[in-house]
Amino acid sequence: MSTVIKGGTLVSSGGLQAADILIEGEKISAIGPELRGERVVDASGCLVFPGFIDAHTHMEMPVSGTVTADSFQTGTAAAIAGGTTTILDFATQDKGGSLQQALDVWHGRADGHCWCDYGFHMAICDWNENTRAQLREMAGAGVTSFKCYLAYDNLMVSDAQLCDILTEMKKIGGILGVHCENGPVLDLLRERAVRSGNVSPAWHPRTRPALLEGEAVSRFLRLAGLAGVPAWVVHLSTADGLEEIRLARRRGQEVYVESCPQYFTLDERLYESPGFEGAKYVCSPPLRSREDQAALWEALSAGEIDLISTDHCSFNFKGQKELGLRDFTLIPNGMPGIEHRAAVMYTAGVATGRISVQQLCRVLSETPAKLFGLYPTKGLLAPGSDADIAIYDPRRDSVITAARQHQNCDYSPYEGFKTSGSLRDVFLRGAQVFRDGELSLPGMGRYLSRGRAFHSPE
Ligand code: MN
Ligand code: MN
Repeated sequence: MSTVIKGGTLVSSGGLQAADILIEGEKISAIGPELRGERVVDASGCLVFPGFIDAHTHMEMPVSGTVTADSFQTGTAAAIAGGTTTILDFATQDKGGSLQQALDVWHGRADGHCWCDYGFHMAICDWNENTRAQLREMAGAGVTSFKCYLAYDNLMVSDAQLCDILTEMKKIGGILGVHCENGPVLDLLRERAVRSGNVSPAWHPRTRPALLEGEAVSRFLRLAGLAGVPAWVVHLSTADGLEEIRLARRRGQEVYVESCPQYFTLDERLYESPGFEGAKYVCSPPLRSREDQAALWEALSAGEIDLISTDHCSFNFKGQKELGLRDFTLIPNGMPGIEHRAAVMYTAGVATGRISVQQLCRVLSETPAKLFGLYPTKGLLAPGSDADIAIYDPRRDSVITAARQHQNCDYSPYEGFKTSGSLRDVFLRGAQVFRDGELSLPGMGRYLSRGRAFHSPE
């Protein structure tokens, strides 16, 4: 059966176009005026985007002696409800384990359960000759993007290892994302705080200062410059880190910058909330100052930020965040957000005039597709592309509340946030998977074996 989406405004980074979309099977078969299909979806007054891509999620991930509240099943259902038709999740190597084992484990968790299409990045946590030898196999298995941590004892690599890994990226044409915080120094600050009896959530941001993000961004970018490879800074949160990125770009380096809605819309004052409420916002890097926020908005509007992902990593307040009731260092780090990324960024960015709807399309869909080897199958509304489509109705305002979310979490960091407009319909490879708040077709998500990352997405 063919479907035509009629009367909407089609969005790409290059502009807006009033046109119909004809869907046949899983693909877009035509774009133009007055198209006809067996089924008609009226999109008048709506913005029609290529399905959004969330390039930074953690589903069903064991952390701090517990497991994230969202499984691949619930997390990808929430993704669809927010217009996200593809996620890229971080398969994560165990110390002592191989990359292949990690990939097998992640496939075991995800395959057959996802509502949206999905692929994996691979986090390299145990760098040795076996790991080195497996990088090419990963690329063969469709994993062409990798991640290293410069923080967290059980995950982090040393500077020398990072340098070695960057050199390998050059050989396989992969791209490396890095969590930029100075882990060993953070550990010192955190231990000091706890020893002094400073154990409330308010100490989470105080022991993860902006300076230690900027320092790690600088270190990563200088090592990437040495290796002569592009760099992907994940979840940038500070003006300090941004300055380091500007420096690297001025040196001529290819740097891709990711940030997340929480760093644009929530700030560190939330950690001072009464009681243990601040634990809801414990994520790393932490929420930052209003000044950092302003700097990120300015950078986003100037086109200096390339992609907005969520770092979705959900834990319930009851029973999970509460593990750190007496010691903030035991609070599992992470927040839910996959369901509300587009609505939050549309509301705070487009509706306020800080960014255009074309810029929103670029950071939510087009650049992640280009950067991670999915373009033009994903990230574009054009004949031949997958019919992954998110229809946003800017007139249909809503309010975010945990009571109505699909995320399997007992709170939302955006509780009470009034959205300008909301998602109305979502198509995944031609099938309507979301309509007026209702999901259908569970488990339709497919694994995306990705090609070589496509650098220089402009
Ligand atoms: Mn991280
Ligand atoms: Mn993360």
